[in-house]
Amino acid sequence: MNRVIDNHGRPISYLRLAVTDRCNLRCFYCMPEEGIKYVPKPHLLTWEEMERTIRILVNMGVDKVRLTGGEPFVRRGIMDFLEELNKIDGLRQINITTNGVLTAPLIPEFQRLGIKSVNLSLDTLDRQRFFDITRRDEFQNVWQTFEALQEYNIPTKLNSVVMSGKNTDDIIPMAELTRTHNVSVRFIEEMPFNGDGAHEYQEFWNYRKILEELKKTYPGIYKLPDPPASTSYNYQIPGHKGTIGIIAAFSRTFCGTCNRLRITPQGQFKTCLYDDGVFNIKDLLRQGLDDASVTERIYEALQHRAKDGFEAEAQRTVGLVSESMSTIGG
Ligand code: SAM
Ligand code: SF4
Repeated sequence: MNRVIDNHGRPISYLRLAVTDRCNLRCFYCMPEEGIKYVPKPHLLTWEEMERTIRILVNMGVDKVRLTGGEPFVRRGIMDFLEELNKIDGLRQINITTNGVLTAPLIPEFQRLGIKSVNLSLDTLDRQRFFDITRRDEFQNVWQTFEALQEYNIPTKLNSVVMSGKNTDDIIPMAELTRTHNVSVRFIEEMPFNGDGAHEYQEFWNYRKILEELKKTYPGIYKLPDPPASTSYNYQIPGHKGTIGIIAAFSRTFCGTCNRLRITPQGQFKTCLYDDGVFNIKDLLRQGLDDASVTERIYEALQHRAKDGFEAEAQRTVGLVSESMSTIGG
């Protein structure tokens, strides 16, 4: 496999594609209560444009795609899109990140569609706290999605953003899920991507503090080897079926092995989560460029990639990080 290597010697193999900026929740760390100003429909990449982009990237060595958003399952046509992606030779892994509100009834289709794993966002096991965080009373539907994922044996990661004053009491109950469930529970540092729904941090829960909290209840928790290009520090509690990950998303400890690209719903091509987009792929496709010219443009961008999230943030032209994560995809 000829895989494109960036200017820091990192092979690029993974695309995170945000298929929509629309969402049916209003998680306070992601967007303000009134929501964000959605991109007008004609400015969104079409499914056909997304498929063509993925085919081009697969020819450049990308073999793993994660569909994210916004909430992927609110965009009409996603199941047909998944069907098309499943036909692409060389695309080894199709994964999805979802909030789980609409997902449970679709899970029986996942295996046939080649979906290799699902990241389900769940910050709490308490219905009232779920409402306080997401501003919607949808806990039961999300839990049904979790149960369906288990029933159909779809490898699952539960993503939980740890926020002081909101859900730190959930760290241990979430970790307890790994006792009997074959699931990876991942605790994520909060990042400032909240669509200007800015809020005061009472106390920042970084990865060290999260680990210390876990150690109080589980002194025997031990480190697992981290897979290559992993964004999480991985652990297991003795005797538990599942595993625990801690993602230092704000501290940015994982940039040295970063193998990922991002494309936003309106086609901004990002070589780092913290950059403000290096070009717009939708514009290139709509200008009528052929695949070779688009490939050349992507290659170019990868030869000027920031070393890490701090450098990318410093190079931004549109100011401080404040866009909603639903326009980036996490
Ligand atoms: N709507 C889907 C979901 O929530 O799973 C997919 C998109 S969401 C933007 C992707 C991930 O980003 C979720 O796991 C969410 O918890 C995480 N996220 C959103 N805003 C964040 C923030 N400010 N800091 C850390 N993680 C965030
Ligand atoms: Fe929607 Fe996901 Fe953002 Fe929550 S984190 S508002 S579910 S896009």
